[in-house]
Amino acid sequence: LLYNLVQDLKGTIRVYCRVRPFLPGQSDGQSTVDYIGENGNIMIVNPCKQGKDARRVFNFNKVFSTNVTQQQIYADTQPLIRSVLDGYNVCIFAYGQTGSGKTYTMSGPDLTTEETWGVNYRALRDLFQISKTRMNIIEYEVGVQMIEIYNEQVRDLLVIDGSNRRLDIRNNSQLNGLNVPDAYLVPVKCTQDVLDMMKIGQRNRAVGATALNERSSRSHSILTVHVRGKELVSGSILKGCLHLVDLAGSERVDKSEAVGERLKEAQHINRSLSALGDVISALAQKSTHIPYRNSKLTQVLQDSLGGHAKTLMLVHINPVVNAIGETVSTLKFAERVA
Ligand code: ADP
Ligand code: MG
Repeated sequence: LLYNLVQDLKGTIRVYCRVRPFLPGQSDGQSTVDYIGENGNIMIVNPCKQGKDARRVFNFNKVFSTNVTQQQIYADTQPLIRSVLDGYNVCIFAYGQTGSGKTYTMSGPDLTTEETWGVNYRALRDLFQISKTRMNIIEYEVGVQMIEIYNEQVRDLLVIDGSNRRLDIRNNSQLNGLNVPDAYLVPVKCTQDVLDMMKIGQRNRAVGATALNERSSRSHSILTVHVRGKELVSGSILKGCLHLVDLAGSERVDKSEAVGERLKEAQHINRSLSALGDVISALAQKSTHIPYRNSKLTQVLQDSLGGHAKTLMLVHINPVVNAIGETVSTLKFAERVA
């Protein structure tokens, strides 16, 4: 309880930054990360600039350098996962340009090795484990939904036959926490059930894509875990939910180069990411008007952003020199919501 109080005093929005390591053959010895300080500071250096304009410091709740493991990232995320079982709504977002490591953090590079599992699987494994320890006091039920937002259309990712099931947003949901009540809600009892669900989701995400990894970088995917607990003595019910969101790539598309479908996609992505930034920064400033209605992403998550909900923004940067422009704009976005 004390721990929860301390967390609450610190505010409900947290921002962590993760720096992706150089991939084999990618490093020319130059990195745009100059140093990472103890207290969540990161200094970025722009090799194309001179003097004091070349360096800039950003400050977040935490910064993870390239050698940080999946386990370490998760250790700093775990308190949020626990609070879902206490009835909180929690959103965890992965933000960054394509190739910066969002999917690596959320899902991991491959499902077969537990050691490199991302936040998604670790979170679910924990939810099951913790709920087991409370078995004599609270009876929990867990269910998952998985949706995708592409070009401002919401699609169910848990359709078995891979058909394109479009969903409407309605905020009179019985479900509490996700405003797409018609998305399949699949009950899960163990980590293996979750792995099976996610395989279906990932397969559906690729359907209709011109190239598999292209589609996933241009849509937002949202894995929602609903937890319902019944206190055995009092019979009272508590509900919490966890949204694990792998956002579309944040890179700006050059308007002179992108045409047609590409340009439309880019505009939808830019608009929805800035709408998300606007909502979170309005919440951080305790503004009276929160502009949820400007994108599907913020409408879908409305009940889980603000109020008693907790938010974690995991921003990702790629330290290669030619990503400097995107790196700076990612960090500016993150600074605005911190
Ligand atoms: P995004 O989802 O942001 O487009 P990915 O997660 O697909 O980026 O990462 C791009 C590439 O970098 C992948 O090959 C991934 O395995 C690798 N990668 C990303 N983050 C890490 C990391 N922390 N450690 C090792 N490899 C990583
Ligand atoms: Mg990805």
